[in-house]
Amino acid sequence: AAKEQGRNRYHYYAKQLQERAVERLEIETALRHAVADNLLSLVYQPQLDARTGTVIGLEALLRWNNSDGTPYLSPLQIITIAEKNGLIIPIGEWVFHTACRQLRQWQHEGLATPRLAINLSAVQFEEPGLVQLVQDALQKNDLSPDYIELELTESAIMHRPDDAKQKLLELKKLGVWLALDDFGTGYSSLSYLKLFPIDRIKIDRSFVNEATTNNDDAAIVETVISLANNMRMQVIAEGVETQEHVEFLLARGCHEMQGYYYARPLPADQCGKLLIPGFVTEKWHSALSMSS
Ligand code: C2E
Ligand code: MG
Ligand code: MG
Ligand code: MG
Repeated sequence: AAKEQGRNRYHYYAKQLQERAVERLEIETALRHAVADNLLSLVYQPQLDARTGTVIGLEALLRWNNSDGTPYLSPLQIITIAEKNGLIIPIGEWVFHTACRQLRQWQHEGLATPRLAINLSAVQFEEPGLVQLVQDALQKNDLSPDYIELELTESAIMHRPDDAKQKLLELKKLGVWLALDDFGTGYSSLSYLKLFPIDRIKIDRSFVNEATTNNDDAAIVETVISLANNMRMQVIAEGVETQEHVEFLLARGCHEMQGYYYARPLPADQCGKLLIPGFVTEKWHSALSMSS
């Protein structure tokens, strides 16, 4: 009976594995179509200076939605699949050109465009064509490199730090900004960090979220802010969701913020409304009066 049971279990797992493989293939095929049929889209999340309430940046975030607007797969799921089957390259190009074209469009409309941040995965970062891609997108859309920031994770650049440093220097030579995303969640060697031409650290939202309720997270956030200050890098907090988060960060010298408290990632037309010259979020007053 035990043998029988074992055999059944084997069949069960084999079937599960097969189903999973079929499912993965279906998703891969769907993703190929999504790329070809232009079913991917970008949303833009504002980054604010909490001292003035003005939009100082936008982060482009990938979406693949069902026709009813609900997400089909999350961007992390898309990127994970796309890195395995090579689609990451055309997807990355599409993201870059689409985001740059949108920025140019906003500028044509007379809007006050801040810098635009674009995420790069480890595979994209190591791709030999990256520098050319950035250069092409800037040139095609007649954009100053000053407007573009590339977001990289620690793991993407610490994997092969010497090659990474070369690549970062090449990108820096184009004139774009470089940011270290999700800081604190990956492996960082501080001695390398010092050698890399990084302009901005993004404190991961997991720390920011707990900073007002957990002493360890509070200490981590404080430490990252002083690290950035001491190394003459800018610092921005991700995942700012409450007024308490805003106060905590302002009191510790971090004034660049991104999170649901200010705005969720928005479709381009809605985001454009925040770029009307002189726009200041009403959240500014409440945050400031609380922190004074
Ligand atoms: P990320 O670069 O760290 O982006 C920030 C994520 O935090 C976004 O999730 C955003 O929607 C979410 N977020 C922002 N504010 C808040 C908040 O206050 N609370 C909470 N709970 N979440 C907040 P999203 O859009 O699901 O993207 C997830 C990740 O997928 C990104 O993390 C990035 O690593 C990756 N990703 C997104 N778009 C792209 C892309 O175009 N290319 C690449 N390579 N990766 C991308
Ligand atoms: Mg990011
Ligand atoms: Mg992040
Ligand atoms: Mg993140």
